[in-house]
Amino acid sequence: MRVGRWISGVLLLAAFVAGTYADRAPRNAPIMMGGYRVLAGDFHIHSFPLSWSTLSPWGTVMEAQRQGLDVIAMTGHNDVWVAKVGRWFSRAAGGPTVLVGEEVVGPKYHMLALGIDHTVSWRQSAASAIAEIHAQGGVAIAAHPLARYWPAFDEEAMRGLDGAEVVHPIIYVRAKARREIPQFYARKPMTALGDSDYHGVGPMGLCRTYVFATDDSAGAVLQALREGHTVVYERDGRAYGDPELVSLAAQNGLFEKTGRAGPGRLVNVSGGCGIAGLLGWFVFGLGKGGVDKGKVLKCEGRKERPRRPAEKSKGFTTEGTEVETAGEVAEDPASQGSAAEAWRK
Ligand SMILES: [Zn+2]
Ligand SMILES: [Zn+2]
Repeated sequence: MRVGRWISGVLLLAAFVAGTYADRAPRNAPIMMGGYRVLAGDFHIHSFPLSWSTLSPWGTVMEAQRQGLDVIAMTGHNDVWVAKVGRWFSRAAGGPTVLVGEEVVGPKYHMLALGIDHTVSWRQSAASAIAEIHAQGGVAIAAHPLARYWPAFDEEAMRGLDGAEVVHPIIYVRAKARREIPQFYARKPMTALGDSDYHGVGPMGLCRTYVFATDDSAGAVLQALREGHTVVYERDGRAYGDPELVSLAAQNGLFEKTGRAGPGRLVNVSGGCGIAGLLGWFVFGLGKGGVDKGKVLKCEGRKERPRRPAEKSKGFTTEGTEVETAGEVAEDPASQGSAAEAWRK
């Protein structure tokens, strides 16, 4: 027993060490192509608070670094405050380039305002939001342009618009989005973006934009976005963006070079050790006697004890009887209401 507990403990420690080591942020060598610095970017990232996400602004920056992103835009819903905190933290911590951004979210359109300084109101037409973004020196990108947002992009808005998201996680889960989003992108020559619309679940940088810039400063990235100097890949390798840069990237194997690697051997070792260690602790027990058979029997005995009607109505609040009580409730329509009440509470 004792040896078993020791082995389980060592396995758990090995899982912890291997997992931590395997999870460190990659150090990417800068990619140079045709005189450009090629930067991996994700320009649609939400942070806690105010933007329905789980990561703090500093957690967002650290996660971007862990995912090998050189540049991100933090795009709070109708707010730039959180992005400014993220930019400050990244500068202090030597993290990726952070563009202060906003997702201008109105009922008729969603628009990314990248490289702005103060909040752009959603209570205006898409065309005037674009004009305001430009007046602040920013770049205006149509976010996940599904057909229901198309009417907002009238002639004037289309003239001003700098680019559109053409690769977004939604295209992999909704056939309609898969058709509509590339269709919007084809409306005029514009900057192609691939963004993850990160809300704290799924990997940040799942969809990304390769920016061909002169350097990794915010100014250079914004200039490259204005000039359409991007390449975006779907997961099967289909490319969008500036045709010259798409072929330059193909000649240099950008897609293959930057392909998302699998979890790696060390991550599998960590997972295997973790599962074996936890199983070992379960089998050999955390305390002196391992699993206490007496306790198990006592529990089983208690389960079989007939219940008084009063106990039934307690439903989910009676400790350890949830499953059994639910079964009884299902057979007794009169008590279903009270169980539902208890659930609501
Ligand atoms: Zn949106
Ligand atoms: Zn969003």
